[in-house]
Amino acid sequence: LQRHRESEDSTKPTFSFEFFVPKTSQGVQNLYDRMDRMYQTHPQFIDITWNAGGRLSQLSTDLVSTSQSVLGLETCMHLTCTNMPVELIDEALEKAYVSGCQNILALRGDAPINAGEWKPCDGGFSYAKDLVRYIRKKYGDHFDIGVAAYPEGHPEESGDDMLIEYLKEKIDCGADFIVTQMFYDADIFIDWCRRVREAGINVPIIPGIMPITSFASFMRRADWCQIHIPEEFLAKLEPVKDDDQLVRDIGTELISGMCQKLLDSGYVTHLHLYTMNLEKASIMILDRLGLLPDESDNVQDNVMPLPWRKSL
Ligand code: FAD
Repeated sequence: LQRHRESEDSTKPTFSFEFFVPKTSQGVQNLYDRMDRMYQTHPQFIDITWNAGGRLSQLSTDLVSTSQSVLGLETCMHLTCTNMPVELIDEALEKAYVSGCQNILALRGDAPINAGEWKPCDGGFSYAKDLVRYIRKKYGDHFDIGVAAYPEGHPEESGDDMLIEYLKEKIDCGADFIVTQMFYDADIFIDWCRRVREAGINVPIIPGIMPITSFASFMRRADWCQIHIPEEFLAKLEPVKDDDQLVRDIGTELISGMCQKLLDSGYVTHLHLYTMNLEKASIMILDRLGLLPDESDNVQDNVMPLPWRKSL
């Protein structure tokens, strides 16, 4: 874990960044600079999404490999089951293993665009839990394994209790941590955490935080993920919807307030920012929360516990 850094204050909340795979090798190249720059803010790790359908899987594994073994960033690789027979799963895992990557977010994946209902491929897995079980069996404790969760439900499953039951199955198959779908309503999230804990799920919960960069993308993403928008968000953002700068400033204030509430709830010690491969909005939120390093931070180039390696 070459550039895995430790702040002297071990109670200070930590954070990480998600990047998605650009469509071209040139785009990947451009992303490296941004990743390296953003790493100067001392995230605990970064993660790289997996393109459902495996279409960009070569780019994903290349990006993970370079990020981990060349740039020396603690990296988490997303991996999905969509169109991935076990031979391709093996290939991806082996490449991650060889690069020194030790963190996998194991997902089922969505159906490829225009493919209709999700179906397992021949020789592939049906659920994320099958992938978790497989990685654990094949690689023992080499990989720390995360799984996805949906505080406001999943489009294919309307029952909240069933979703928590399925989440428990993924943990029981060997997962170490949970990363959630984005949300804007802290109260819904906190109540969901309570129910997760009541169900006997004790691994760290990492909230997925989506910055607000424009009014249109804010509304589109909320609609896409079918998540509740609190009244306060609409009341403050709608009147300034045509001014991107104001939307970003007010959005930063709203998201920072939400994050602070999550941290205060005691369920969360780490924030995972969906950067959408952009720098500014995520950095503004971290700045507002006082989580960016300052000169007094004793930052060392040594190993620190990742959120899922700390005792809760
Ligand atoms: P699962 O947990 O396997 O669930 C899939 C469906 O099956 C759900 O509807 C669930 O309710 C149901 N189910 C689960 N277990 C059972 C069971 N035992 N019996 C019956 N039904 C069951 N997608 C990508 O393509 N690439 C990414 O990089 C990516 N990253 C993501 C990161 C995060 C943090 C999140 C929250 C999602 C991400 N996704 C990504 C989207 C994800 O792949 C989809 O939401 C997908 O539809 C579900 O994946 P899952 O791993 O949660 O699946």
